[in-house]
Amino acid sequence: MSGMGWIKNELENLKENGRYIPIRILQSPQGSWVKIDGRTLLNMCSNNYLGLANNPEVKKAAIEAIEEYGVGAGAVRSIAGSDELHIKLEEKVAKFKHMEDSLVYQGGLLANSGTIPVLVGKDDVVFSEELNHASIIDGVRLSSAKRVVFKHMDKSDLEKQLKEHRNEGKRSLVITDGVFSMDGDIAPLKEIVELAQRYDTMSYVDDAHGEGVLGDHGRGIADYFGIGSELDVEMGTFSKALGGMGGFVAGSHELIDLLKQRSRPFLFSSALNPGEAAAIMKSIEIMERDDSLLKKLWKNSDDLKNGLGNLGYNTGSSKTPITPVIVGNEKKALELSTTLYNEENLFASPIVYPTVQLGTARIRLMPSALHSNSDIKTAIDAFESAGKKLKIL
Ligand code: PMP
Repeated sequence: MSGMGWIKNELENLKENGRYIPIRILQSPQGSWVKIDGRTLLNMCSNNYLGLANNPEVKKAAIEAIEEYGVGAGAVRSIAGSDELHIKLEEKVAKFKHMEDSLVYQGGLLANSGTIPVLVGKDDVVFSEELNHASIIDGVRLSSAKRVVFKHMDKSDLEKQLKEHRNEGKRSLVITDGVFSMDGDIAPLKEIVELAQRYDTMSYVDDAHGEGVLGDHGRGIADYFGIGSELDVEMGTFSKALGGMGGFVAGSHELIDLLKQRSRPFLFSSALNPGEAAAIMKSIEIMERDDSLLKKLWKNSDDLKNGLGNLGYNTGSSKTPITPVIVGNEKKALELSTTLYNEENLFASPIVYPTVQLGTARIRLMPSALHSNSDIKTAIDAFESAGKKLKIL
């Protein structure tokens, strides 16, 4: 087929296979309930874990920073200069994470895809967890390093691969998600970092779903395992529990110094806007002073998992608030999500291949600290009713 005609076929193909995801348009802020198509729906699919995306203090900080500094960073930081708010945010992130230094990126995806190619290149080897996030996979591809995939949650497979490839490459890197975004299980990071050290390999964790969720006051996975000083690189995002936008990499002063000289999103893409930087600083301040939101998040998470489990749903092996309701078949997942949306006023998107493996389609529920006890009960009741209607239960 010539020209662009193939696109129509591709779209039809997606629709026929239940892989075409409807994208809803929100007419309200992120919250426990959202407005879509003029209707109010229970929101069970946002990563706004602590409810900071629409927090009045956080909004005020952003508004004040916009009034003082404007809405744009002007250009890339190496050309137009670093806004002082970025420097303050980087100091705050490093302190919160108990790391030496940090570098702020415009997004988590850019943090991964912009950092990995600085650490490794075509003569090097990356040991990458089977279920790592797409932005890690992209970063490894961009680096041109040899990719060796180790099995999900399998430290003996990692050791086997480290042994097998120990004489390859000039440098090597072990990289893993901390919390796996579609399953909610937690990587055995302590053992992974020990193995990396034993085989003289750099260690890197993507803590996107551990931030604000794991560890003391939500400091993340390194704090949860008590291994901050052992880990070489900790990457994270501001777009989930911290409620805003942007990403970061934390590590040694030398690492951050080198990223500023080599990392392409830093050198070739304009910086995060000042309002965003101020908002994130306020979110961290809130998390540092008070962990009641964190406690509520975990209570909601336990209640939701217990309720769905009691109904007979398969919620997989999650150890975090990420709650997958695994139905298997792609069309079934889409049907369940549509029934919840149309008939139960519950908003939760289906997750299908290629985001998850074929035959493991699911609805991923994300409880938040904003949900009340009765919201969680409403969600469980909605799943009971939709599940019975569709003969899933
Ligand atoms: N890593 C993981 C594990 C994620 O889940 C995400 C967000 N989907 C990212 C990185 C990218 O973060 P951001 O949305 O800030 O680009």
